[in-house]
Amino acid sequence: MAYDPNNIFAKILRGEIPCKKVYEDDFALALHDIQPRAPVHVLVIPKGPYGSLTDFAAAAPAELVAGFFRAVGTVAGQLGLEPQGYRILANCGSDAGQEVPHLHVHIFGGRPLGPMLAR
Ligand code: AMP
Repeated sequence: MAYDPNNIFAKILRGEIPCKKVYEDDFALALHDIQPRAPVHVLVIPKGPYGSLTDFAAAAPAELVAGFFRAVGTVAGQLGLEPQGYRILANCGSDAGQEVPHLHVHIFGGRPLGPMLAR
């Protein structure tokens, strides 16, 4: 899938749109979701033009892949979600309901999260 550089997370990464930043390093930016679905709902986005996990796995440099997933874990730790636990989720493509075509991992926590998937 061709990457759309005008998607909203690309604009946030370029600083064109504000966000409620939680964490940033060379590989990732984490921000509060604008429509939280749990007491804690944070998005972690990689710093690179990747629309989905498929694109990211195929094309991102190994340092970015490692740095991005390390950032997801770091953010979850900094949010105080251990030891109660949390859930990560990445919607990829239309069947998953992906709204923003820039890879992002949702981190949900702060309450029991129920079943893994809605039926
Ligand atoms: P997905 O359906 O996995 O693509 O999730 C996209 C998420 O991005 C949704 O949970 C939206 O609430 C969230 N979102 C959209 N625009 C913004 C924004 N400007 N700042 C923070 N979160 C956003």
